[in-house]
Amino acid sequence: MGVAVRHFDAVVVGAGGAGMRAALQLSEAGLKTAVLSKVFPTRSHTVAAQGGVSASLGNSEPDNWHWHMYDTVKGSDWLGDQDAIEFMCREAPKVVVELEHFGMPFDRNPDGTIYQRPFGGHMSDFGEGKPVRRACAAADRTGHAMLHALYQRNVRANTHFFVEWMALDLIRDAEGRVQGVVAMEMETSEIVVFQAKATLFATGGAGRIFASSTNAFINTGDGLGMAARAGIPLEDMEFWQFHPTGVAGAGVLITEGVRGEGGILRNSSGERFMERYAPNAKDLASRDVVSRAMVSEINEGRGCGPNKDHVLLDITHLDPEVIMSKLPGIREISIKFAGVDPIKAPIPVVPTCHYQMGGIPTNYHGEVVIDGQPVHGFYAAGEVACASVHGANRLGTNSLLDLLVFGKSSANSIIEFVKQQPEDLPQLAMADVERSVARVARLDNQTNGVQVHDARAEMQRVMQAHCGVFRFKDMLAEGVEKILEVAGMVAKTEIGDKSKVFNTARIEALELENLIEVAKATMVSANARTESRGAHVRDDAPDTPETPNGRDDTNWLKHTLWFREGNRLQYKPVNMKPLTVDTIKLKARSY
Ligand SMILES: Cc1cc2nc3c(=O)[nH]c(=O)nc-3n(C[C@H](O)[C@H](O)[C@H](O)COP(=O)(O)OP(=O)(O)OC[C@H]3O[C@@H](n4cnc5c(N)ncnc54)[C@H](O)[C@@H]3O)c2cc1C
Repeated sequence: MGVAVRHFDAVVVGAGGAGMRAALQLSEAGLKTAVLSKVFPTRSHTVAAQGGVSASLGNSEPDNWHWHMYDTVKGSDWLGDQDAIEFMCREAPKVVVELEHFGMPFDRNPDGTIYQRPFGGHMSDFGEGKPVRRACAAADRTGHAMLHALYQRNVRANTHFFVEWMALDLIRDAEGRVQGVVAMEMETSEIVVFQAKATLFATGGAGRIFASSTNAFINTGDGLGMAARAGIPLEDMEFWQFHPTGVAGAGVLITEGVRGEGGILRNSSGERFMERYAPNAKDLASRDVVSRAMVSEINEGRGCGPNKDHVLLDITHLDPEVIMSKLPGIREISIKFAGVDPIKAPIPVVPTCHYQMGGIPTNYHGEVVIDGQPVHGFYAAGEVACASVHGANRLGTNSLLDLLVFGKSSANSIIEFVKQQPEDLPQLAMADVERSVARVARLDNQTNGVQVHDARAEMQRVMQAHCGVFRFKDMLAEGVEKILEVAGMVAKTEIGDKSKVFNTARIEALELENLIEVAKATMVSANARTESRGAHVRDDAPDTPETPNGRDDTNWLKHTLWFREGNRLQYKPVNMKPLTVDTIKLKARSY
């Protein structure tokens, strides 16, 4: 078969924060590194991150990594692995200062230190004290600043970027060792094999499985789809974060930093309703808690607007100077997408799909693990990976931190691994390459098929209706049936345009084949987990003293693993043992 093969030490799929942090480490260590990205690196979704990156620098008030670790474990509703969480929170000050030295233009305090703002769920004194200023920010464009700083560093380190290349499939040999990826150049539709000693997935999230999402159109879960097709399980896919403040009707994100700067959520009677749901943290409670409170207000008839279908985010009491200097992008988004100037009127907001807590199972070294064993040559970092530091619910600003910490640690693992590998690459496993080529050929040869946008719209509708902020037993069971039907549609998609040059129809069809794997994993895993925990909340999970808020630690303190083959589920224990400190013991979660 006439497929060209290119050889590298390491191939990184994805040029967001995770991929670029990793690539920088690899290139600086002298590894021949290829980075593939569907879009120009600085257009990756990380660019849209607004609020900040967490680190217990304590620049404005006392803080330390022990408090950060406690908050993260509590935020995860105890589903996060405590070894990985300790590692991340301890590394945080180091990787943030490192980023500062890479040239990241953080906002500054008058004394020149990095500016920090409060964010939901980040508290002082092991959750007992008041919200703490832990989010390091560059106005409301933190991800933008981060991505540009990392890109420029990579240019300096001579990282080899393949821009507008889409990875199609993972290549594994008969023993399951990973050899690289099959990829397509979007400009020409040419298929090329990238063979490497080590492969890192940093392909970001898959928020596009839902109809309403803050995610970019390119967030189609390609890494998850590729892993699932290659027999790698997906972990904890039932846990999706709905961000409380998407612009009503548009889905565009309004950062939690707005509430960090003093913004307040109000219902139709102007009441600050979060005081009832989270008396201590109020508007700065964890995201799952705030999202559910908002949906309850709307469901109980206290929503705003003619359809009573949203609530209001009010910052009219803030000094316009603060809004202009600390939240300029938010003001622009409000004017453009909601038609209101937040200096004068509150912003209409609703919970919107934002982040996947689950992903490809890894340890805190960024190695992909199945049954406790690293998969030879395969690594994952960033939103596509599940380390698991976010457990059942992620705290705001912990994702940008995750990118830096695990981008770096996975690269360090790769550097050590590559040293031990023979100079020459092994014989290429052609079976996976042929399967991938056949997948593209199927699409080109399909007749009397289903339109891609019809199948995608149906998937998004089913996910939104059957697997949203609140989940219901019957709806989930029905959701499994429906999503399998949609999978049948996806297997028969047809594209009208079969041309080779920048054929976006082909790309979208291939992306849908990845999205549907994510949707199936989500629905099947959610249907099986009969408790409420973090972002996964079911109507049939009883609130008793043994199962506070429906959380059932006796039966469900475990990670889900979904395998594509036969929609099989398997479970593995949560690692409750940190690296150097005592276990953070189970406790009912309230804010
Ligand atoms: C609007 C918004 C605001 C946010 N704000 C914050 C915040 O303030 N703080 C915080 O901590 N978190 C925030 N988050 C979450 C955080 O930004 C993301 O989780 C994080 O940026 C993901 O980074 P990543 O490197 O994993 O992936 P991404 O930045 O999404 O990058 C993925 C990369 O993979 C590439 N790719 C994907 N598929 C393929 C393929 N098949 N072939 C080749 N390349 C591929 C893409 O081209 C891209 O380069 C926010 C998220 C959103 C959506």
